[in-house]
Amino acid sequence: MADTVFGKIIRGEIPARIEHDDDSCLAFHDVAPQAPVHVLVIPKRPIRALADLGPGDAALVGHLVVVATQIAARLGLADGYRLVVNCGRDGGQSVDHLHVHLLGGRALGWPPG
Ligand code: AMP
Repeated sequence: MADTVFGKIIRGEIPARIEHDDDSCLAFHDVAPQAPVHVLVIPKRPIRALADLGPGDAALVGHLVVVATQIAARLGLADGYRLVVNCGRDGGQSVDHLHVHLLGGRALGWPPG
């Protein structure tokens, strides 16, 4: 898999505002936030996209989601929030390293564009 900006963040080569760090995942604030809270939760293992996941990745993906919910609680998103995973060009994915967006802190519109 080609290196990405998220690979550089994992390796500490470029700065990020880290919210969570463990053996398998990292969470940091998005550089161009689309809501008052906009955090990205990513696996440390380079997985390009949702479309590349296999059955053996179920626990990892579940972990990403649980970590996102823990961050949401810690950051006070008691009125709700949204988790988004964009996949591929039509899905709006711009960084080819799997990531879960945690968005909250305002009422979010639906449907997305
Ligand atoms: P997506 O369009 O779903 O691939 O989301 C990629 C996200 O990564 C966008 O919301 C970008 O603002 C964010 N992003 C890109 N570069 C950085 C960076 N260096 N630090 C934090 N977030 C970034």
